[in-house]
Amino acid sequence: MFYLETKKIICPFCGSEMNVQPSKDYVYHICECSTCGHYVQKVYPTNAMDNLKDETASFLFYAGNEAFHEKFDGYMSFMGDKSYYDNHYAQHHSVRYISEEEIRAFYPHTFAERISKILLGFATLAGFWGNAINLTKNELISAMFIKRIGKNGEQMNEEQMHQQIAAVTEYLKRNDYATFGFGNTDVRITLLAEGWKRIDDLQRSDDNNKKVFVSMAFNPGTDATREAIRAGIVEAGYSPEFIDEIIHNHQIVPEMLRLIRESRFLILDITDPNYGAYYEAGYALGLGKEVIISCSKEVFTKDYTAKEVSPYAKYLKPHFDVAQKQTLVWDDHNDLTKKLSEWIKAIIG
Ligand SMILES: [Zn+2]
Repeated sequence: MFYLETKKIICPFCGSEMNVQPSKDYVYHICECSTCGHYVQKVYPTNAMDNLKDETASFLFYAGNEAFHEKFDGYMSFMGDKSYYDNHYAQHHSVRYISEEEIRAFYPHTFAERISKILLGFATLAGFWGNAINLTKNELISAMFIKRIGKNGEQMNEEQMHQQIAAVTEYLKRNDYATFGFGNTDVRITLLAEGWKRIDDLQRSDDNNKKVFVSMAFNPGTDATREAIRAGIVEAGYSPEFIDEIIHNHQIVPEMLRLIRESRFLILDITDPNYGAYYEAGYALGLGKEVIISCSKEVFTKDYTAKEVSPYAKYLKPHFDVAQKQTLVWDDHNDLTKKLSEWIKAIIG
């Protein structure tokens, strides 16, 4: 696809000035908004999300913000005709088709859900306790699901938006969830202990949360094990998350920690030694999450005292004493899938 020169227009969702690059056929353009991130939408007539502007602004902020997804690991949201996407963009891994349903489903439906999503967003941006974050006013509006558009489609004025911001920030302050320092152009937010606690509680007790984080060594030799684990998780009714399928740069530790925080429980396969995997499991245990440990029988029963391997035993031998937990020992990959599914149903439900 060829692109023409960059132009500046106003983002239809958040109102920031942004750069756009039209495609040569002038049907769609790539938008680069500082609040919404990168997205693709129709040049004219205006895009399909016209009646969902506020919802789309918040969705894009969370989906496309570079702080959530490092620049080259994030994706571009495509909003428009599915057939055009299939013909022009589907082959690009970094461009994702976003449907109206996905945007509607993302938007919080209750007050409690809205507060949770705001806190979760702040936690992700902060990364760790004590780290303050700075958001522009426009970013804050998207992050806190503030309405820019009124009931009858009219643009809210400054005063109306300010009232909404004040209401939400007051609630968060009164509950000791966060503090806000408003400057001329941006706001400095610090998440407090109560805020972090609420996030932990939410993630631990959420029965609808089906995400399972899988910690293991990823290499061509472990592909079959990965697939067996995936099958076992799916069979038990959960949704597996493999870090390398979600983010392609393993250095993004905050992103990884976020995925673990948002998961219901974690599976650690220790057949192939991997220190990162132990670290991930330790983090999950620290958050009070369940960790299921698995290991192949071959490795589990291997004798590491033999002369040729004993000097390396401390590197090769799995650490069976992880939090004194019982280990799921599997014979082969079919056995792993079957046992894992049974264990998940018995331990998690
Ligand atoms: Zn925008």
